[in-house]
Amino acid sequence: MKLFELTAHELADNIAAGEISSAEATQACLERIEAVEPQVEAFVSVTADVALQQAAEADRKRAAGEADGALTGVPIAIKDLMCTRGLPTTCCSKILENFIPPYDATVVEQCRQAALPMVGKTNMDEFAMGSSTENSAFKVTHNPWDLDRVPGGSSGGSAAAVAAGEAFVALGSDTGGSIRQPASLCGLVGLKPTYGRVSRYGLIAYASSLDQIGPLTKDVTDCALMMDLLAGYDPRDATSADIAVPDYTQSLTGSVNGLRAGVPSQLLGEGIDPQVRECVGAAIDQLQDMGLQCEEIQMPHIDYSLPVYYIIAPAEASSNLARYDGVRYGHRTTQPTDDIYDLFAQTRAEGFGPEVQLRIMLGTYALSAGYYDAYYVKALKVRTLIKRDFDQAFENCDVLLSPTSPTVAFPIGEKADDPLAMKLADICTIPINLAGIPAISIPCGFVDGLPVGLQIMGRAFEEETILQVAYAYEQATAWHRQRPTLCYSAEHH
Ligand code: GLN
Repeated sequence: MKLFELTAHELADNIAAGEISSAEATQACLERIEAVEPQVEAFVSVTADVALQQAAEADRKRAAGEADGALTGVPIAIKDLMCTRGLPTTCCSKILENFIPPYDATVVEQCRQAALPMVGKTNMDEFAMGSSTENSAFKVTHNPWDLDRVPGGSSGGSAAAVAAGEAFVALGSDTGGSIRQPASLCGLVGLKPTYGRVSRYGLIAYASSLDQIGPLTKDVTDCALMMDLLAGYDPRDATSADIAVPDYTQSLTGSVNGLRAGVPSQLLGEGIDPQVRECVGAAIDQLQDMGLQCEEIQMPHIDYSLPVYYIIAPAEASSNLARYDGVRYGHRTTQPTDDIYDLFAQTRAEGFGPEVQLRIMLGTYALSAGYYDAYYVKALKVRTLIKRDFDQAFENCDVLLSPTSPTVAFPIGEKADDPLAMKLADICTIPINLAGIPAISIPCGFVDGLPVGLQIMGRAFEEETILQVAYAYEQATAWHRQRPTLCYSAEHH
């Protein structure tokens, strides 16, 4: 196996055993980036100097016996909406193209303190609005399993980077599926933690009642190790939860005995590609054979998730994005303007891409006088009903199972002009953000050589239970060991 094909914990073991230094591993990682970036285009900035400096620090810590983290020295990639002090953080928007934050996000600081060298910032849909990474203002990222296809989104750059061996782990953010769906489409493990479990200080906000940061990794062990690093209370994030954090690797027992699972029929019916359904069905059967008690359940309000999300998320976005006015930071128009309002309007028209403008308008409309009650308040009420469906389901079930994405990775350009089809990519992931609960996507098979993901959802602050089920399934299967070959599909030639 090549170095870039190792999981993070395998590399960490090699580093700990003195077989390779972090500096050597990081150098190899940067060479891999140089070799495959022309095809994959996962990064918007590669931070080679920073990475090598942090790798040297990791090696120094190790030599001095100060390395306390399990992943010390393992190169990481970070989605370009987490603030990195002194380094560009763009949200892949022209409006923040030249923005250099004066501080680190808490998660970035945690990774630096644990001595994970940061090799670069990854491509994403502008302000995390999208499901294919095609909405980036800068470039289109290609899926390592088939370079003609999208990697999913909005954390598509982070997913493609890990799948292509350009980083051993990555951070993404998930507002409606943006960690889990790209993980599913790129054959990775992706976890959206419970709302409040991981600090969002320094995460540039999209929809504040839904956003969460989480890891994208090659296997469940890496995911648990990243959660050990990231989870915990942060007084700088007002929504951070002051709840004890378990040792997540303890939950990797390999057993599902005594656990009960629900399979919501609403998430396995209409709209799910039949081959994906078959794959996920087989995974559920396998878990059942392993001792998980599975039963079909009904969650009647889940069908309203998409409409509810597309009121609440744009409403919050319209408020969060009001700060980009060309006055304090970011892009400012150079066109002559009549007054300050004209300056705001010109700046925003130039700086925001079409999808972002569309959502700001939708959100502003939903919050305007006369429509606020009809749309926004109504959506909040239905959100509560959806959350109650989950509360009820978790009275009898420890976890819920579904596909992560209704389809495998689709060709670049296929859904770019079909906003409804694009939004349907998130039908299985959005309900989880509305309920605030944790969910993981793990590889569970292939359709025509493209990865399929199984989604495992759990009760709030019970990440350990979904990790336990995910690990048991992973131990019994070999999907997670497959690596992509970075080829174009046949149609391309
Ligand atoms: N695809 C969804 C959207 O466009 C979710 C994105 C996300 O989770 N950031 O809003």
